[in-house]
Amino acid sequence: MIQTQLYIDGQWQSPIDNGTRAILSPADESVIAQAAEATRADARLAIAAARKAFDGPWRQTTIRDRARLLNKIADLVDRDAEKLARLESLNTGKTLTESRTDMGDIAATFRYFAGLVASESGAVNEAPHHVISRTLREPVGVCGLITPWNYPLLQAAWKIAPALGAGNTVVIKPSNLTPLTTHHFTQLVAELDLPPGVFNLVTGGAEVGAELAESLDVDLVSFTGGAYAGESIMKAATGNFKRIGLELGGKNPNIVFADADLDAAVDYALNAAFFHAGQVCSAGSRLMVEDSIYDAFIGRLAERLPRIVIGNGFHGETQMGPVQSAQQHEKILGMVQAGIAEGARLVHGGKRPAGDVYKQGYWLEPTLLTDVTAEMKIAKEEIFGPVITAERFRSEEEALRAANDTPYGLAAAVWTRDLDKANRMSRALRFGTVWVNDYHPYFPEAPWGGYKASGIGRELARIGLDEYTELKHSYINLAPKAMGWFGA
Ligand code: NAD
Repeated sequence: MIQTQLYIDGQWQSPIDNGTRAILSPADESVIAQAAEATRADARLAIAAARKAFDGPWRQTTIRDRARLLNKIADLVDRDAEKLARLESLNTGKTLTESRTDMGDIAATFRYFAGLVASESGAVNEAPHHVISRTLREPVGVCGLITPWNYPLLQAAWKIAPALGAGNTVVIKPSNLTPLTTHHFTQLVAELDLPPGVFNLVTGGAEVGAELAESLDVDLVSFTGGAYAGESIMKAATGNFKRIGLELGGKNPNIVFADADLDAAVDYALNAAFFHAGQVCSAGSRLMVEDSIYDAFIGRLAERLPRIVIGNGFHGETQMGPVQSAQQHEKILGMVQAGIAEGARLVHGGKRPAGDVYKQGYWLEPTLLTDVTAEMKIAKEEIFGPVITAERFRSEEEALRAANDTPYGLAAAVWTRDLDKANRMSRALRFGTVWVNDYHPYFPEAPWGGYKASGIGRELARIGLDEYTELKHSYINLAPKAMGWFGA
């Protein structure tokens, strides 16, 4: 049985009150680990350690030291990639193929930020000859990093790499449903002899996250998760006006025009919605199809759905695993029922698959609801499960209006062979990412984040590093002279 601990001030330790939490397998509800469940008191110790480390020798590190550190972390992630992938699948239910992809992306993220950090240099500004004026980037300080259960280590990597690379110290708090890979990752960091307190792990629930958001000793909170927690973090952060980064939910339209390559569009519509059983903030669960091809398109999807192989993520033939928790399972089924009650038509799924192996665990069939209209709850709210809701549109204007009519703005996709239309749509859609004739790709080099209620700030890319820095204007007068402003 796996047992996890907290990592505070360079020491592995149990929570002050010895709290633990049973971690359940989403595939069969068996107990797979006992995780340390911290309280606010543990979070305070971790914050104090991070504060001391930031105010101490860590400030003296150079960009070369930190670039080397990130590259070493990438090497260790590569070394343990298979172990990490298996842990991620065990804890989240996602397929091994999906987890292996995550681990490759995590190492790439550390290497990308290592390169970026190494290329950092301040700017010398034009100024009078007796003045040296420089623009410098400095670390923000102590960073509280709070991550969700759907991409536990990937989301952590997007925060840890730029935070450490920019010279900050960190306290990371993964979701208490999925702490296992972040715990193993911390074991890798512990191999590296960093000064105590530079990297701290506190596993626990919302209270621990709230302590990070409220603490006057935390200078920045970066959060990925739902809108409800995001709102409370934003309010809590006003105590010391700490920097905040919020990556929140999405309701992401996947818009298919009649002139699209329909073989590709059908295939990607499945990937957009059922990858990681739809538990992706950018999942393309809101399918919008042009009227003239709507019936044919739905027919082709309906044919494919029963052929999706649902099963344990460790089995080679599995294409879709379970959802992560009992709570999610119940919520998704509730949303499907709400859709049906509002007039949507259930074409496939909407229930636990039949068969003994699916009796335990959080299994759901891939689900297709049609006859959905933009006003329905299922077209507006995040479902976060393997559910496609299909809407019909008659013109480009109608598609655009309906797609933008959401409080969210994370990601959208457009399928068409008409480049002019593709360009018009991608400019007019109010989303942080717009894919044309594709779905899901992201790169460390490109920014990730949302418009509107999908969040504040961006991760990845140069801006993902800049968010962990303060900008300073350093002005040095080399030849000060009395100026006599108030007379002699
Ligand atoms: P959640 O908001 O319940 O929890 C996220 C994290 O915040 C967890 O670690 C949790 O313990 C902590 N937390 C909960 N309440 C808190 C509070 N009041 N103060 C501080 N911390 C608190 O979200 P979740 O259910 O774990 O994740 C699913 C959500 O995450 C979905 O809405 C999804 O869209 C979103 N998400 C967004 C992105 C993105 O890049 N935009 C990526 C992945 C997931």
